[in-house]
Amino acid sequence: MTMRSLGNSKVYCFTVGILWPLSACGGPVLSVDDVIVTEDHHKARLVALVEREPVFGFRTDVKGVVVRFNLDDEQVGSDKTDSEGYATISTNVYLKSLRTYEARARVDGKNLRATGRIHHWRRDRVAIAVDIDNTIARTEVRKLMSEKKADDLDPVKGSRKVLEALARDYHILYLTARPRVLLEQTRHWIAKNEYPVGPVYTAPGLRQAIRQKTFKKAALAGLRHDWPNLLIGIGDRELDAEAYGASGMLPIMVGTRVDADDAPYAIILHDWRAVGAFFAANRETLTDRIMVRDVLKGEGMLLRPIIPWPKD
Ligand SMILES: [Mg+2]
Repeated sequence: MTMRSLGNSKVYCFTVGILWPLSACGGPVLSVDDVIVTEDHHKARLVALVEREPVFGFRTDVKGVVVRFNLDDEQVGSDKTDSEGYATISTNVYLKSLRTYEARARVDGKNLRATGRIHHWRRDRVAIAVDIDNTIARTEVRKLMSEKKADDLDPVKGSRKVLEALARDYHILYLTARPRVLLEQTRHWIAKNEYPVGPVYTAPGLRQAIRQKTFKKAALAGLRHDWPNLLIGIGDRELDAEAYGASGMLPIMVGTRVDADDAPYAIILHDWRAVGAFFAANRETLTDRIMVRDVLKGEGMLLRPIIPWPKD
């Protein structure tokens, strides 16, 4: 539904250099959070949000709507949305093979349905947070202004291949300051472009999306509380470096937008080929949560591979 409404986008809002297409059309929307479970911890919080159509780019929340949660076609609980539109239940995700859950609600006479992903993680594995805009997606303001959907954005060269390789050794999650209105579209873009499967976290709304650094720091604090081995972050801007660094993570900046003088604590790499070489050279250290922590304390070393001078 999110995608359908975005297709009719008429209203644009400006947020820190990026124009988000936001619809003034479409009815109420139901969206669900991604869930991460581990072998020893099957309890999961299933979270759904009901929102009404946006007014001038801002969605209005829906209170008191009953949301039913299904696992494997069986209802496992229900909750009424709170004043912000959220409905939440805690349940056991007992089947290891279960990859999705479903939320259903009826609003304004319409039946809404959304599918959430259940990700199975290993608690001892190092996890990497990956930014989206201009880190893996070539986000062009002009493209969005001409009403081309965010779905049409090109991937950043080499990013898919490197992340695919990294996904064999690390858990990958996507953290973007895009507003939640773009959540489903962002998931679709990740799948369509064959990036590794991983939970996607967005800012709740435009207010938080505009204050990207504050949002990312708060989001990382929550994520690191649940996943202390979320120890590496990849991004393209100084605010990413700062958010990752302040959250006790190793910031790896890709591209040319970050000045080393402004982020001396970050690893700054020119492109994804360099990112791939960096992870390959430091595989033993970066896949070991204890060794990464030592590095972050200044008690370990990382190798910095040299990119060979290009031949003709
Ligand atoms: Mg970015």
